[in-house]
Amino acid sequence: MSRSFAQLAKKAEANKTAIAVSKEPLAEPPLEIHKLGTQFLRQSGRHISKVDDSIRDLAKDMLKSMYSAKGIGLAAPQVGIEKRILVIDLDIENPTNPPLVIINPEIINSSATVDTYEEGCLSIPGVYLDVIRPSSIKVSFRDEMGRPKKMNADGLMARCIQHEIDHLNGVLFVDRVTDQEELKKALTEHGFNKKDVFSPPE
Ligand SMILES: [Zn+2]
Repeated sequence: MSRSFAQLAKKAEANKTAIAVSKEPLAEPPLEIHKLGTQFLRQSGRHISKVDDSIRDLAKDMLKSMYSAKGIGLAAPQVGIEKRILVIDLDIENPTNPPLVIINPEIINSSATVDTYEEGCLSIPGVYLDVIRPSSIKVSFRDEMGRPKKMNADGLMARCIQHEIDHLNGVLFVDRVTDQEELKKALTEHGFNKKDVFSPPE
């Protein structure tokens, strides 16, 4: 009994997160989310060598800004910070669903099967277009405590992680849209310029 309690306590400790923020939208979110056309979005994030309180504070500010914008994912280059960190919460309406903080992610495996799914981006508000990506991935990363993690993801989670990792490399989902006519139309309708879209990365 005491032993299993100790194991439970150990497990709880291993899953403990330092990241707890309210999901209520703020009138003045801590970070500004840059929009398509600014150079910030084309900057790559740099490797984070130490996961400390400053990184956890950044993650909290990113989450507050993401929740305030009603988004499910946000990467540091979107708020003008060149670091390889992203935050994800696929259930923003559920106050107790814990967010994911993903630091220095590497996709170590991608499925050969692909899905077509309509993506949107907090940096390109109003624009939703189909993008083709691998259906499932395996990703390695550090969590908000600096612990090494590996995760298999499919569905919306795989989609979201791939979209956010693209941001860490200065790539936007619109760069990957194949239907150029639809792309031009949607961007123009929402006040964006197709000149700010790059050709698809390799
Ligand atoms: Zn995005």
